[in-house]
This record gives sequence, structure tokens and C-alpha cells, in this order.
Amino acid sequence: MGLVDCLNDIVGPKYVSDRVPERYLYSFDMTENPPQRPAVVVMPENVKEIQQIVGLANETKTPLVPFITGQNVGGLTIPQEPDAIMVDLKRMDRILRVDDDAMYALVEPGVTFGHLRKFLDEHHPSLRYTYPLAPPFTSVVANALLQGLCDLSTRHGAMADFVNGVEVVLPTGEVVRTGSSILGDENWFGRYPLPDLFGLFSGWQGMTGIVTKMALQLWPKPPFIEHAALFTFDEEATTQLLQGLVRTQVLDDADCMSLSLVKMLLGVPPPVHAMEGEPDYGTLLSLSGSTKIETQQKLKTLRRIVESPEHGLSRPLLIDWDAITALMGDQAASWVDFPSDAFKILTEYDGLTWVGTYIHPRNWGAALAGGRRIVEKHGFELMAFLKPMNGMHYGEFKFIIRFPKDETTVERVRLCNEELLDHALDQNAIPYKTPVWAAKKLIARADPEFVNLVKRIREMLDPNGIMNPGRWGI
Ligand SMILES: Cc1cc2nc3c(=O)[nH]c(=O)nc-3n(C[C@H](O)[C@H](O)[C@H](O)COP(=O)(O)OP(=O)(O)OC[C@H]3O[C@@H](n4cnc5c(N)ncnc54)[C@H](O)[C@@H]3O)c2cc1C
Repeated sequence: MGLVDCLNDIVGPKYVSDRVPERYLYSFDMTENPPQRPAVVVMPENVKEIQQIVGLANETKTPLVPFITGQNVGGLTIPQEPDAIMVDLKRMDRILRVDDDAMYALVEPGVTFGHLRKFLDEHHPSLRYTYPLAPPFTSVVANALLQGLCDLSTRHGAMADFVNGVEVVLPTGEVVRTGSSILGDENWFGRYPLPDLFGLFSGWQGMTGIVTKMALQLWPKPPFIEHAALFTFDEEATTQLLQGLVRTQVLDDADCMSLSLVKMLLGVPPPVHAMEGEPDYGTLLSLSGSTKIETQQKLKTLRRIVESPEHGLSRPLLIDWDAITALMGDQAASWVDFPSDAFKILTEYDGLTWVGTYIHPRNWGAALAGGRRIVEKHGFELMAFLKPMNGMHYGEFKFIIRFPKDETTVERVRLCNEELLDHALDQNAIPYKTPVWAAKKLIARADPEFVNLVKRIREMLDPNGIMNPGRWGI
């Protein structure tokens, strides 16, 4: 029996396709990374079907690529080898449980941010998850596996830090759980004190197994949420001020971006040009409290730092969100209600890419300033985005490029991204959601024993090399 017939037997012919249109649709994403068609697309509905697909892939030595919506902006679901089976997990979209006491949600990989937000609002209104600038139809599980960043990351860190445990179909077909759920399916409260095997799946871009369940921490929804806008000049001054603000521990989140992005998010139609004397960056600051007075006190703390004379010539400015909303209307109100439609301004063209990194706070300003010069040199819109992470233990920055996908522009994008990455690596920044070309550059500079260990773990888990081979450039 051929591959397609075997897959038909496992999931039913309605959920298998080797037709050219489907293979084409799964062959590319928005980035400049080169496309490659899978041989066939399959949509399993449960763990047993995934185990059978994995078994088939081992027998036939066929690569498997886990896929949910392909919106990772890193080329991470584009097969690196020909004749792959694309395993689309959208049908596994159940929210299996919300545990109010231990505050976690147990979800399948197809659950989206929009889906989770709606469910919590309706059934557990005192709890919240954390939401990205990404489209609401993208996967919560994939985002956590990729160690992404959302609107509580300034306080609580990257999304992998929200994970209590996972259930995974290993590349050899066994189903394994990590974390406290090893003592039973009612028990997904945490990862410790145990060998932390979530690390075998976190950040691996689908190379070490297919995650079929994930428990994710929720947080109490505070009764009062306040926002403010901070406008700043210059990269060093901006990152230093953000460090000071976050270290007061009053902030839940801070999204800092080039002023052009802020203007677009507030409804100014592109192209948005810089005007003489305008600030370079705008930051959405989010904070919360049990009472209005608490949030106002927190805002006062921030204002005291912003208005301190030590900022001298750089003249930062803090504006209450009410004033911004009065000026800009609905657009300002909807921006702060994640997951919002703010992502739309990033997806106006068929091309979207970025070089994004996590970085030491000391190198943040210099990395940003250098990146800005590179983007300007290559003639792209300036769309920098940065976020203080995990209470300011480290920072995030990325340079976003929206582009029409014609051959000349794609080549310009490649050159710009390569230069941005080299510059980021010079600052010891670690790229995230790392495309293969970028992973190769990182590996060339990384401690070789780390790279050896990664390869050995992969070979141990996946002796036939079937899981998303070629990712991470290995
Ligand atoms: C406009 C825009 C804005 C964005 N903003 C943000 C942002 O603010 N913060 C942020 O963090 N991200 C952001 N993203 C990136 C992205 O949307 C998220 O990371 C997203 O949640 C990925 O989900 P997906 O369904 O697209 O995953 P996919 O792209 O389908 O998969 C991502 C990776 O995970 C692997 N994978 C998927 N499912 C599994 C599984 N079950 N088991 C093992 N491996 C698996 C895949 O093989 C692939 O390597 C943005 C994207 C866009 C387009």
C-alpha cells in the first residue's frame, strides 16, 4: 500500500490530501525562506492516530512536519526535506480542563488564542491567559513551544515559562508526559521538583515529538487595568528608561516600538513618515491593581521616574491612555484589548519577516541602535519592536519587515536580515523562532559541546530522523 492509502486508513480520506493545491498551500509562509512542497497533508484527530502516523513514518523513513497555522514568521513549518508528511493538528482543538484552584488550562495543540480568551471570558471570568500581537487564530501550544512573548511577558517571561507540563507522542511512537501529571491526568499543577523533561520539547521546533496536550498557567484577572503611553528618544536612553521602569515591579507589560508602528496602530494610514522633533519610540505600558487607587499609585511611581531630571535632554513623556483614547478613539481602545486586530498592520503585504532576539539588558540599546542603522541603510520602513522580559532579566528586540514578495525585494530582505542577525550575534543576542539560515549562523558561534549534546539528544529520541529533519540546521 502507498503512503496516501495508509494515511487514508488511519484518519479517513477526508483528512488526507496529496493534491497539488493543498501541497502548494503548505509549502510556504510569509517569510523570505524558500518554499518546499510536502508530499501529503494529513489531519489527525487524536493521539492514537498520531501514533499510527508516527509508526508509518518510521517504517517508510518519511519526514513529519507538525503544523497548526504556519504563522511562526520563521519558515519553521516549511519542510527542509522533500516528500514530507505535513501533520496539521487543527482538528485537535479542545480545551480539556480549566483548573480554577491551581490556575491552569489543559489544551490541545489546535486551541487558538482567540478560542482560549473567549472560553475563559465565558466560563472562568476571574482568570486570564496572556496574549501576543499575533493573529487570534494562531496556536497557544505552538507559541509556548517556540518560547514566544505575550502581554504578561514583561512580568512573567517567555511563554515556555507558563508551561506546567506536556503530553507528547515521541518520534518512536510512545506517549509520555512531563511534570506533575506523571501522577495522574488530574494533576497538571507544575514541573517541579522533577527532572525538567519539558526541556526536551521546548524550543525544538517540532524535532523531538508531537505535543498533544499542554497545561498552561493562568493568572487572576485584576479588577483594574490601566495603560499609559511613553514616548522616548534615542535607543540607549529608551532602553535604560525601560529598565528603570520595569525594575520598580509595578508593570505587567511594556511594548515598545518605533513611532511609525505606534502611529499605524493608532490608525494613521501608511506610509508614515518621521517628522522633525518627533520621539523615536512609543511604549504601551500596562499595569493593574485591586483598586483604582492602587493603579493610580503605580502610575505615579512610573511618572516619578520618567519625569526625574536625570533624563535631561532626552525628554521622555508619559501620557495617560485616556488622553490617547480621547484623541484616537476606538482604535486606541481595541489595541490594548489582546488578542486584538492590531496584527493586521503587519500583514498588509504577502511578505512578513523579522530578526528577533532575546538579549542581555546591557547590550539592548547598542543592538537596537545598530539594527536601526542597518534597516535604514537597506531602505525598509523602520519597525523596531522591543519588550523588557521577565522582570527585566533580559530584553527582546526585533526588526519587522513587511514586503511584497517579488524576487528583487525578497533578495533585499534576505541581505538586510542577514546583516541584522550578524549584528545581533555580535551583541551576543540569541535569535528566536530561528529560521534554518539563522540557526546555522548561531551554531557556528555556539559552544560546540552544546551543539553536540543537542545532536545526541535528537538521535536518542529520533533514531530514524523523521521529526522535522533539517530544523535548527541539524
Ligand atoms: C502578525 C504576527 C504577529 C505576531 N506576533 C507575535 C507576538 O507578539 N509574540 C509571539 O510570540 N509570536 C508572535 N507571532 C508568531 C506566531 O504567531 C506565534 O508564535 C504562533 O502562536 C505560532 O502558532 P502557529 O499556529 O502559527 O504555529 P506553527 O507555525 O504551525 O508551528 C510553529 C512551530 O511549532 C511546531 N509545532 C507546532 N505544533 C506542534 C506540536 N503540537 N508539537 C510539536 N511541535 C509543534 C511546528 O513544526 C513549527 O516548528 C506573530 C505572528 C504574526 C503573523
